[in-house]
Parts: sequence; C-alpha cells; structure tokens
Amino acid sequence: MKVTKRFVDKGECLGSFGDEIIVTCPRCSGCAVIRQSDRELPSGWFRLARLVCRKCSYSQGLQKSHLQLISYRHRRHDHCFDRPVWLQTPCCGEVLWARNEAHLEFLEAYVGAQLRERARGEQGWSNHSVGSRMPLWMKSAKNREEVMKGLGRLRVRLKAGA
Ligand SMILES: [Zn+2]
Repeated sequence: MKVTKRFVDKGECLGSFGDEIIVTCPRCSGCAVIRQSDRELPSGWFRLARLVCRKCSYSQGLQKSHLQLISYRHRRHDHCFDRPVWLQTPCCGEVLWARNEAHLEFLEAYVGAQLRERARGEQGWSNHSVGSRMPLWMKSAKNREEVMKGLGRLRVRLKAGA
C-alpha cells in the first residue's frame, strides 16, 4: 500500500502526505493552503513555503523569523506558520484531524480496513509500524465506527473549504 510508506512524520516542514497542508486562515478563519516552494534555504532547515487563503486570498510567505519556529506547538498545527489544520473534529473525547486530503484518505483506508478485518473475525492490528503512529483511542475497536463517522465529518469539511 503506497500510502502507508508516506505515513512517516519526518519532522520536515511539509514532509508528510505531499507538499500541501490545509490550515485555517490567520485573517478570515477560512480554508488556506500552504505549499512548499522549490527553492531550498541555505540553512537547510526549511524549504520556503507560502500560505494562500482560498476564501479571502490572504497570502503569506515564510519569513526569516519563522525559521526559529523549529518546535511547533502541536501536531495539529503546521510547522511553518503554526496555523491549526483545517480538518479537525471532536471525536471520542479527542480531536480527529488530518493535514490534507491524502492524509484523510489514508486514515479512511486504515480505519476502514480494521473494520473489515474485524468483520472477518480477525483480531488485533497487523501493521504495527503504522499503528504505532496512531493514537490508542483511534485504534480502539470500540471507537472505530465513531472514528469513521468523524472521518466522514472531515470529508464534509474538506468539501466546504474547497
Ligand atoms: Zn482568509
């Protein structure tokens, strides 16, 4: 499965699931997209990135001061601008989130596969390398249907922001 290979958070600026992250616009709270530029910075820390809002057209480039933002506040924020990701929804007393459509597709496929596996009467998580990256509440059998519903809400939100 091609997608699982990409489920590795290398701690890069926009390292996982392609070079886009969908976040909340700092100006209008609409849906904004962060894209990585091709140019590499001399420091090697980050590639240059730009945030562009789909709603209000606000645009922000990665500035020098942002380079100090090495540790970001939360996994639900992007590394470059520290904006909260657009795809978030309360689920099972936690927050279900995804960086972009590719990430959401991965979660749908993964959690959906576990549901199918359970239907076949098998138990447990066969892929520990991927499962170990996922929070326990998402892996819990009793939460799976609720998680799938949450992923459905993220789908709706993705369409709303497009
Ligand atoms: Zn905006």
